[in-house]
Amino acid sequence: MIPDRLGRPLRNLRLSVTDRCNLRCEYCMPEDDYVWLPREDVLHFEETSALVDVFLSLGVDKIRLTGGEPLLRRDVPALVKMIASKPGLADLALTTNGVLLEDQIDALKAAGLGRITVSLDTLRRDRFKALTRFDQLDAVHRGIAAAGRVYGSLKIDSVIIRGVNDGELIDLIDYGRSVNGEVRFIEYMDVGGANRWSPGRVFSKADMLAVVSGAFGPVEPMTPPGSSAPAERYALKDGTTFGIIASTTEPFCRTCDRSRLTADGVWYLCLYAARGLDLRGPLRAGASSTDLARLIADRWTGRDDRGAEERVALGDRRAFVPIQDLLKRDPHLEMHTRGG
Ligand code: SAM
Repeated sequence: MIPDRLGRPLRNLRLSVTDRCNLRCEYCMPEDDYVWLPREDVLHFEETSALVDVFLSLGVDKIRLTGGEPLLRRDVPALVKMIASKPGLADLALTTNGVLLEDQIDALKAAGLGRITVSLDTLRRDRFKALTRFDQLDAVHRGIAAAGRVYGSLKIDSVIIRGVNDGELIDLIDYGRSVNGEVRFIEYMDVGGANRWSPGRVFSKADMLAVVSGAFGPVEPMTPPGSSAPAERYALKDGTTFGIIASTTEPFCRTCDRSRLTADGVWYLCLYAARGLDLRGPLRAGASSTDLARLIADRWTGRDDRGAEERVALGDRRAFVPIQDLLKRDPHLEMHTRGG
């Protein structure tokens, strides 16, 4: 185990396989067009697989494929197959908006993908279209149904924004129950394309618990102390479970063991980090696994990032990156490039 400066191990890697997305969620990717990563910079699966080997050799044992929309990348099951059977990997998951999931679920399962999380913020067709700009709610429902069928269960992540979908918590829990999905409510974060973020639009963990216990009665906390999982889990009286990811009001930097590799091989130690470490350059220049491992280990042992906690300490908190810097400049500043 390689500890960083706060004793946090290098364990959890989020692999973004593309910066492209087929939705335009208001809080993530609100523009039509972006500066995309140059195609020639995007890692080939063999290159990703080689970097994964190095990360696994340093103690990473959990990998989540993300994006952009990961299922837009051609033949993701082939990448899953390359990674799934690697020694040392305990958990291989995928986060998707679900639009393309139904068609790919069997191939993903056959390739060895362990778990699926689908992002879904609303059950209302008009609201889905307004939030994402695409009329794809039915496709997402089909994807979720397919995941439930093939995997038996799944997670459903819902970003809750005050004044937008904060009236849907109960419906989302009921829906989750009906599809074998555990719903996790995510606080609206001031990252990436969230340029309309303001503190007033955050529906906090406290607000969420008040709504859920108002409807279902007292909820039982289930998360063991010291857990590095981002979601705190709760159980309702009937045994239904749900989670809350309070990244904005109660960040969990102290236990954060996550890092992120962009589709073009830039490694970020924190979602809020201004800069990442380019691994594509050395990889393509012929660096050996030992060289790459040294590079990664050196960077991790110097890690003292506590991005989300530092944001909480700010008096006048606004969107992380001002809109003029986000648009048409460096794609690496975007959440859809870093992977959520
Ligand atoms: N396209 C995939 C999906 O929809 O799950 C993977 C990438 S997406 C960036 C990953 C997650 O980040 C989604 O659940 C999305 O809702 C979440 N996300 C994006 N912007 C966010 C924000 N400003 N606050 C909180 N969560 C956000």
